[in-house]
Amino acid sequence: MKDCIFCKIAEGKLPARVIYEDDLAVAFEDIAPQAPVHTLVIPRRHISTLLDMEDGDKELVGHLFRVAKDLAREKGIDEGGFRLVLNTNADAGQTVFHLHLHLLGGRRMSWPPG
Ligand code: 5GP
Ligand code: ZN
Repeated sequence: MKDCIFCKIAEGKLPARVIYEDDLAVAFEDIAPQAPVHTLVIPRRHISTLLDMEDGDKELVGHLFRVAKDLAREKGIDEGGFRLVLNTNADAGQTVFHLHLHLLGGRRMSWPPG
């Protein structure tokens, strides 16, 4: 989608520290990391929010979790633990309207989140 920064990153038109990509998904380091590991996992195709997920996207969204799980292992935060965050709309603090999973880890996290 035009003017979407994550679409541009997925298309290689905007620089990012991409650490994984395949036909369906791209993973790159967050520009303002909130933890020692802070990676974003996005679908290549533009989906604005989880609310825009359709039944046909079930496999795609499952794939994003699969990529996040594999990256957690690769980054060595699997045993210690990690958090996946999917902010949706204003109250959750969503700022980029292209679906993304935050993979956060490498430090102790509190609950509930702020
Ligand atoms: P949200 O608040 O929408 O859940 O998360 C958006 C995330 O994208 C934030 O953690 C923010 O730091 C990150 N972000 C925003 N713009 C860019 C960018 O241009 N490049 C990268 N790598 N991350 C970005
Ligand atoms: Zn997009």
